Amino acid sequence: MSRQALGWRMDYDTLDHAIRIAPKAKAPLKGRDPLCEHLFPDKQEAEEALRADAKAIDAMQDVLWAERKRALLVVLQGIDTSGKDGTVRGVFNSCGPLGVAVTAFGKPSEEELSHDYLWRVHKAVPKRGMIGVFNRSHYEDVLVVKVRGLAPAAEVERRYEQINAFEKHLTENGVTVLKFMLHISKDEQRKRLQERLDDPKKHWKFNPGDLEDRALWDDYVAAYDTMLERCSTAHAPWRVTPADKKWRRNAIISAVVRRTLEEMNPAYPKAEFDPKAITIE
Ligand code: AMP
Ligand code: MG
Repeated sequence: MSRQALGWRMDYDTLDHAIRIAPKAKAPLKGRDPLCEHLFPDKQEAEEALRADAKAIDAMQDVLWAERKRALLVVLQGIDTSGKDGTVRGVFNSCGPLGVAVTAFGKPSEEELSHDYLWRVHKAVPKRGMIGVFNRSHYEDVLVVKVRGLAPAAEVERRYEQINAFEKHLTENGVTVLKFMLHISKDEQRKRLQERLDDPKKHWKFNPGDLEDRALWDDYVAAYDTMLERCSTAHAPWRVTPADKKWRRNAIISAVVRRTLEEMNPAYPKAEFDPKAITIE
């Protein structure tokens, strides 16, 4: 089932259908395959597709910037080791440092906690012409905050609709919102955490707090299920991306980002002068 044999569009629709969550649909993670071998069955082909997509994304980013009218926001969510950093590296590496702004959301600072939870998020939304990538996001405010009881349950409950309204506001103001939930199995997380212990070059990535979150695995799955059901909207759908294989995850996400930019179809602005009338001595 190569991309060539099926043709780009048909291949893309199959792919997107497999990962996009319909509005209000119950989409329990338990019933979803973190491997999805039928999507990009071949590693070499996936890597080739990623390279081509990354190049195309870079080229369109240049036009997006020249046009200066719209922005693209890519939200990456997933538990520890699900590959949020690896996705940024794999998919956006070809883009020049000027066109893509990556924001990682960690534990909120005192200052951030003294504002509403969307304050720090809205400030990081990409300006016109930019691609912004969120490594974690406002969704932590209905995930870790819910699981660890960091805010009253009734407050968290109100956030789903607040987030939908916030994202609607963004899309109506020129920001296209793409959301990827990186879905790995509990087994794959064990392997990746173990690698962080075994490889001295990865020790810095290991955080004992990750084990506390791992112990809360089922609670996180439940929180993700609720998030997917309540915040996958027509204007900003969630895509659950099989992420047990890094190369497949990157190929899938780059395909969606590329296609989204193609649909945005940015154009170079017309010069406000007649270039033929200008002579450079
Ligand atoms: P990392 O992504 O590995 O650098 O870890 C960032 C940490 O910040 C994770 O443990 C998140 O759960 C935590 N975090 C992110 N956003 C929030 C939030 N709004 N409230 C509490 N903790 C958060
Ligand atoms: Mg971490």
